[in-house]
Amino acid sequence: MTVAVRRAPVAVLGGTFDPVHYGHLRPAIELLEGLGLAEVRLVPGRVPPHRATPSRPPALRRALVAAAVDGVPGLVVDDRELQRPGPSYTLDTLRSLRQELGPERPLCFALGSDAFRGLAGWHRWRELIDYAHLVVMTRAGDRGVLPTALRDWLSDRETADPAALRTAPAGRVLFHPVARLEISATQIRRLLAHGRSARGLMPEAVWRRVAEEGLYGYPQP
Ligand code: ATP
Repeated sequence: MTVAVRRAPVAVLGGTFDPVHYGHLRPAIELLEGLGLAEVRLVPGRVPPHRATPSRPPALRRALVAAAVDGVPGLVVDDRELQRPGPSYTLDTLRSLRQELGPERPLCFALGSDAFRGLAGWHRWRELIDYAHLVVMTRAGDRGVLPTALRDWLSDRETADPAALRTAPAGRVLFHPVARLEISATQIRRLLAHGRSARGLMPEAVWRRVAEEGLYGYPQP
């Protein structure tokens, strides 16, 4: 019997990144190493369907993500959602990545456990798994209480084995614990709007741009 040898999975981490911070980067690095991924693509959304429009324009959020991952092996910025008009539906993003990667390459979509609990409200959510595995990032393994519809859907798709992400291009759900740093973009926007520093909460290259260009209301020098 021939066993197909697949290449290491590519993962996608979506978000508004308004702005990017270590709370985004640390989980991305833990996924990369913990799951033996080829790369994690950080995908800034243009118009997220499930939340308020980001406070800053796509080009700026993208540029800050690019500065954050510059020189970090395995992390890249992917701006396909910024190229598309209309709401940034994850299904469209995964389809377009699938097209780019071909039918065999394992692809993972990483999302927080809070987002996963609301998955049944997403645009054509049942189809997501046709294009990618789902990796649910938990805090210390806590998956919370899942709605019944999601629990039933999960029952024959969940795996506890990260190796399962390599043996098929898509179709499995893995819960994976990652660090949750006490940092949020909301907290950072608030600090900056009050003229306070966000140094240490984000890579120094991002902070330098924020400070030098007076972004997010931070007083310009
Ligand atoms: P905001 O405060 O504006 O709501 P945010 O800081 O939560 O933003 P997002 O861009 O919405 O950032 O998050 C993108 C992804 O990163 C989501 O999957 C989210 O669960 C995850 N994430 C954000 N902050 C953290 C954190 N501190 N620790 C772990 N994961 C995080």
